[in-house]
Amino acid sequence: MGKVVELTHPLVQHHLTHLRNRETPPHIFRAQVRRLTLLLAERACRDLPLQHQRIETPLEPMDGAILAEQIGLVPILRAGLGMTDALLDLLPTAEVQHLGFYRDEESLQPVEYYQKFSSHPPDLVFVLDPMLATGGSAAAGIDLVKKWGVNDIRMLAIIAAPEGIQRIQDEHPDVPVFVCGIDRELNDAAYILPGLGDAGDRIFNTPG
Ligand code: URA
Repeated sequence: MGKVVELTHPLVQHHLTHLRNRETPPHIFRAQVRRLTLLLAERACRDLPLQHQRIETPLEPMDGAILAEQIGLVPILRAGLGMTDALLDLLPTAEVQHLGFYRDEESLQPVEYYQKFSSHPPDLVFVLDPMLATGGSAAAGIDLVKKWGVNDIRMLAIIAAPEGIQRIQDEHPDVPVFVCGIDRELNDAAYILPGLGDAGDRIFNTPG
């Protein structure tokens, strides 16, 4: 069974509630996505390997430590873009590789429309999608990242439906899922309930 980490921190509850509120305007929504992504990243990066680095402070030499691995961010377009800058603040040397899926409104299946991966895969990839709904796009995205040659993959989502978590666990039991909240269910249109609506529309101010 794959690992699922649901954050329980009071700050997560607080910011998630503002995020969900339909009255929250896009500029605050984006700020809330950013805050929640920072909290997710703190949890998902706890075990990153370090390497020794000898440096000199203005006062004396010392042994420091820096991240040992090359890290990649794979935001799933378009809502995953809303999480990217927060991670880049913490991981400024990360590479950002984009993956685009849209959801076919009849079949509700993910259709890939964009993939831009470099020739050399990083050591570790964070796949970013704020809403892990059916898990179709995330599972397909993780497939592509694995085919690219990455072994350490971690899924970061703000809200997940039980169906989405189950799908990642079934198809990618080696991929841990870090999430701020696991909601009740999906509706017939595969939106998460209670959820927050369409994350892409709320980030980019494109009301449907
Ligand atoms: N994508 C969204 O943006 N919201 C949902 O509830 C499900 C998928």
